[in-house]
Amino acid sequence: MDWHLKEVFGLFQQQFGLGPGNGPSSGTSLLKVDALSTGFIKAIFGALAVLWRSNPWKRLKPSHLLGIKVDKDSDWPDARQPFVVAQLIDHAIYFFRSEADAQGMMGIHGLGNMKSIPLKGLLRVTYGLEAELSPVNRKMIKTLGLEIAGAKAYPVIDVVYSPKDIADGFPSFRNPTVEELHWFYAALRALTQIHPLLQQADGVQGGAMFKDLTKNLEISWPSEDTGLQGNATVRVTFPPKDEHEEQVNPPPKLAEVVSENRNTAESESKVPRQCTLCGIEVPADRAPRCSRCKAVIYCSHACQKKHWKETHKVSCELYKAMMEREEELEIKGFSFVCVMEHSCNWLESMGLHGKGMWRRLCTCFKQYPFGLLPPAEGGSMARVWAVEHGKYPPDSPLQEYLVLSSWAEYYELRGLPADSPVALILSFPLSLYSIVTSLCVPTKTMLSKGREVIVHYLGPEGELDWLPAFSEIGYLLGGSGSLHVMMIGPEVPIALAGGMTAVNPKLRVTFVRGLYQEEANALPTPHVVVALNSQLEAHSSWTGALEVIKAQAVPAFFTDYAEPCCVNAKQMLRATGLQITHPVSANPFRSPVRNQIADTNLPWYSNGFVFGVNT
Ligand SMILES: [Zn+2]
Ligand SMILES: [Zn+2]
Ligand SMILES: [Zn+2]
Repeated sequence: MDWHLKEVFGLFQQQFGLGPGNGPSSGTSLLKVDALSTGFIKAIFGALAVLWRSNPWKRLKPSHLLGIKVDKDSDWPDARQPFVVAQLIDHAIYFFRSEADAQGMMGIHGLGNMKSIPLKGLLRVTYGLEAELSPVNRKMIKTLGLEIAGAKAYPVIDVVYSPKDIADGFPSFRNPTVEELHWFYAALRALTQIHPLLQQADGVQGGAMFKDLTKNLEISWPSEDTGLQGNATVRVTFPPKDEHEEQVNPPPKLAEVVSENRNTAESESKVPRQCTLCGIEVPADRAPRCSRCKAVIYCSHACQKKHWKETHKVSCELYKAMMEREEELEIKGFSFVCVMEHSCNWLESMGLHGKGMWRRLCTCFKQYPFGLLPPAEGGSMARVWAVEHGKYPPDSPLQEYLVLSSWAEYYELRGLPADSPVALILSFPLSLYSIVTSLCVPTKTMLSKGREVIVHYLGPEGELDWLPAFSEIGYLLGGSGSLHVMMIGPEVPIALAGGMTAVNPKLRVTFVRGLYQEEANALPTPHVVVALNSQLEAHSSWTGALEVIKAQAVPAFFTDYAEPCCVNAKQMLRATGLQITHPVSANPFRSPVRNQIADTNLPWYSNGFVFGVNT
């Protein structure tokens, strides 16, 4: 860093206190900003974390000013962008209202002359030590679980003014406004993306382009309806305009991936939606939705009005709360498109359509009963997964028994890159694995003692063709007990029924054809019952199965796609006299790809949520 900036920073610290937000009159905290949702605060901290990890300070020197423009000027109050120039200084970022302001701060007299803080203020974020945080900020960070990089980097965001008009000569601090934070959030996401672009451009032009960064970065995003929950597509352009657009090559590991590129379902959607009330198809770009919860799709205001009166007025608030979990449910880091509007199209875009186990993710192969898909040509794991070597789990058991709690851990452990889509299918075996090794205490204990756990796995469908994926459970159980999974359901084909497959030394699978209530008596008592994507309310046959679960009094775990499904499931369970003892929670091994459902915008994931009874 330039000598004079170091000095400036030192003076700044002297004047303003030891750490960020600790200035004499600071006490700023985002929690105190009116009308700011905690979801958005989390989104901002998420973006700050990503930026911290991508370490743009390595590349952007304090002498580089970045001109930033978010959307059109007319989209902002007073037809002006709140800030237009960004500068990265020693793990802090300053956002100025004009280039002149920025150059004023940069001047050789720097902050030693307090007049160099712009009169109208600058928005700054400073990353500092936890110990230096003001109590209000520390409290906010702890309460909302916003620790971004250990105790080393806690960001504080505030606006600081010139002390010119203040008697004691100290600068004044305030919280940013919501508008300013909207702008700031877009800018953060853009900074994350500009960084790898600079690297590419640097390679080509030998760094000369840095001189030209001012006023060259433009960001646009669908600001109106996407909500600010982190799923807006931020587009970044800078000269040369047509060379680099939006695309960022993700680093190889899921756990370290910095890019948050997402295609939102809504902004790019072409697949028609459906009126939630009358079922009429509506074009995606003209599908009105409830303006409060933003969750429900209608064909017309008439339908909206009617639906409101009939049922929606009691559920709207609940749906709104469910929509606010969008950001939290999004699993960060995967570098493929994590929204699926249409399964065939998504598979096609990934080059997986009609291949290997992926044939069960759309309905194109429904002429083959479950369990009877023709084997993938050659039958090797590479063919079965239909992805390059290195992108599917290795054919090797673990020697040690580890309990995994996230996709990031799993991908790291198995050496899978962030662009490997295998999590979509592995969501089934890994949800089962997570239940028996972590959620269900008795089976967890048995496994750690090296014993065999019997699982009644109810209602298998695609799973019957995914045994190669299930073999991964056996590998993960390398150093512990083993699993006997009895797949029981009406979809088990006669050809498989009664058979047993030893998938590997730690996992064997048996198949039972029929309804659980009719078959259970003849089977060994399970240690745990599991039903994935169960949709308890959608199939009447669950009533009988739940009676059996109640009579057996063994732990049973269910997953379902979305929160409303879980609400309905709860009612079903209660009607059977079963109480949920493991509360509905987000399943860490849900599919990373969100399904877009025709008549609702609610977060919808395969194996999205998990809950349990008799636990
Ligand atoms: Zn309608
Ligand atoms: Zn609503
Ligand atoms: Zn298809």
